[in-house]
Amino acid sequence: MIMNKRSFLKRLPLLAGGVMLSQQAMVACAPKQGDPPLKNWAGNLTFSTQNVHYPSTVAEVQDLVKKHDKIKALGSRHSFNSIADSLHQLVSLEKMNKVVALDKTAHTVTVEAGARYGEFAPYLHENGYALPNLASLPHITVIGACSTATHGSGLKNSNLSTSVSAIEFVDASGQLATLSRSKNPEIFPGAVVGLGALGIVTKVTLDLLPTFDMTQVVYLNLPINELENNFLELQSRGYSVSLFTDWRDKNINEVWIKSQVGKEVTAAELELFGAKLATENVHPVVGESAEHVTEQRGIPGPWYERMPHFKMGFKPSAGEELQSEYFVRIEHAYDAIVAMEKLHEKISPHLFISEIRTIQADNFWMSPCYQKDSVALHTTWKQDVDTVMKLIPLVEEQLAPFDPIPHWAKLSTMSPQLLQSKYERLNDFKQLAAQYDPEGKFRNEFLDENLYGQI
Ligand SMILES: Cc1cc2nc3c(=O)[nH]c(=O)nc-3n(C[C@H](O)[C@H](O)[C@H](O)COP(=O)(O)OP(=O)(O)OC[C@H]3O[C@@H](n4cnc5c(N)ncnc54)[C@H](O)[C@@H]3O)c2cc1C
Repeated sequence: MIMNKRSFLKRLPLLAGGVMLSQQAMVACAPKQGDPPLKNWAGNLTFSTQNVHYPSTVAEVQDLVKKHDKIKALGSRHSFNSIADSLHQLVSLEKMNKVVALDKTAHTVTVEAGARYGEFAPYLHENGYALPNLASLPHITVIGACSTATHGSGLKNSNLSTSVSAIEFVDASGQLATLSRSKNPEIFPGAVVGLGALGIVTKVTLDLLPTFDMTQVVYLNLPINELENNFLELQSRGYSVSLFTDWRDKNINEVWIKSQVGKEVTAAELELFGAKLATENVHPVVGESAEHVTEQRGIPGPWYERMPHFKMGFKPSAGEELQSEYFVRIEHAYDAIVAMEKLHEKISPHLFISEIRTIQADNFWMSPCYQKDSVALHTTWKQDVDTVMKLIPLVEEQLAPFDPIPHWAKLSTMSPQLLQSKYERLNDFKQLAAQYDPEGKFRNEFLDENLYGQI
């Protein structure tokens, strides 16, 4: 089960599970009296320990790893389940967020692993470069996103991990390891969507494209039945297309189409499959301010200010929320949408919005899109944990005929056995993790339960 109810319960900070810290490290991580317990971004999860370390150098990360029996890397805490939690020690690389190198020959950028996309995207653009895709928000760290197979949308866009060409990480012995797509083709596909299981990643190298501008237009009120024959046609209308629905009235509330200036047709028709072109910026969630969303209305702007739905300096999404998401093969897109719509009476009152996106197949062992073009059905729920945790199994049941795979960073109630059966390279992944972490130093309850069946 990816997120059981127990995982929501506040746990007392534990001091056990690691050896005594040096005085300096102790100061770095000791919670001050009155410090609020550390929570994830949405606030639905209280981390199980307040032992959080903030190293500034790779040597400090190595030191921490050598000192502790159990330790887990933390990104920007945007996951909704306990995938980044630890009962013992957490290490955040938020002080290690710089650009290390921009290689204008290889067309790659290397960043420290604490870097968030929104922090260095403008720098890339100024230097003539772009990333091929981004998630709905630029606030997340590159490695947190890539470790969980985070994705944007686009028939020809794979998830964000596919841009990674090399990683540097500290393994369980404290040694620095480097793996790259070119030098380690056999195991690299097992290491990038790594769920934090191989070590503490300290640097990430990403492939770059020449920079480009984009436009974004939104259409309102598309009848769901138009998707039966036009789903792929609609998805191919832009570089990245998202459909937002609250499942009421057999209607897609908003269709967001993001296009590359000069590559796709950017002149927007006034009507598309019955949906009408919006003339003002709109937020996907009714009642939320359009000030938070990236510019729409066909106004061109740099890729990093159009590809995410939300602006870097503003609150993404609804805020106090929960999220779940399931990937199914793209050929099941319409049937899966219809199946989900059948739940509208039960689910619509409890959600802010659902989003439907496409993701091209990749080759990462632990990616839900491993060797399959997929469609992802995402839901942003109101933050009523008890109700949502009763509704998620209904969604899973409804999507079951289409072999759904849950997002690693979102809520699910799928059994570990069923989850494991969906990953044909799981044993290879476990062997790879054991190579770098033989004693399970980087395993937490989430991994023990979901991958190893030990809880
Ligand atoms: C408002 C909102 C919108 C979202 N939109 C999208 C979306 O559009 N598409 C999508 O697919 N997902 C989306 N997500 C989910 C999000 O992308 C994932 O939760 C992602 O993992 C967040 O990255 P993070 O930096 O917060 O990582 P965390 O949640 O902090 O950690 C995630 C995983 O990464 C590991 N990790 C972090 N740092 C390291 C490191 N240095 N070394 C090794 N492992 C590490 C952790 O151990 C953990 O396993 C959204 C989430 C929110 C809150």
